[in-house]
Amino acid sequence: MKKALLINDMLNDFLLPGAPLEVPRGRDIVPSLKERINQARKERIPVIYICDSHSRDDEEFRHWPPHAVAGTDGARIIDELKPQSEDYIIEKTRYSGFYKTNLDSLLKRLGIEELIITGLMTNICILYTAVDAEIRGYSVIIPTDSVAELNEADGQFALSQMANVLRAKLI
Ligand code: ZN
Repeated sequence: MKKALLINDMLNDFLLPGAPLEVPRGRDIVPSLKERINQARKERIPVIYICDSHSRDDEEFRHWPPHAVAGTDGARIIDELKPQSEDYIIEKTRYSGFYKTNLDSLLKRLGIEELIITGLMTNICILYTAVDAEIRGYSVIIPTDSVAELNEADGQFALSQMANVLRAKLI
């Protein structure tokens, strides 16, 4: 099955110490993500960054502190995981990478059938992107060393939902 590697929200506003929506555990997955990205590039597996890109008055900010406002440094991918010219970047404004983006058409164009979903946060964007992938017929792989969340219990719940309900493969 043709795979793509998805990297969700590895942005300054989620990862820098003191960032508005800091996910401290997110820094622990950077080394394994780096390795997965290098491996994917070697194997010519497309690398697709999926990134929050909000307007200043985004409705999401009623629920979360303002973060990843389009055009600000906070919305940039962290330096350690800098994309290369052959990578793809998809901007999103909601939890699912599929919602009002061209992710699905990009995947179709590339002939992708299986998604390796990584990044932040396990119980939010990873989970909702996995749901949207599953209902569109993609197989989903979640490498547990390459996802992170604010609260471990929420992460565990999301992983078990993805494995048991969505039939995602946890590796
Ligand atoms: Zn957001």
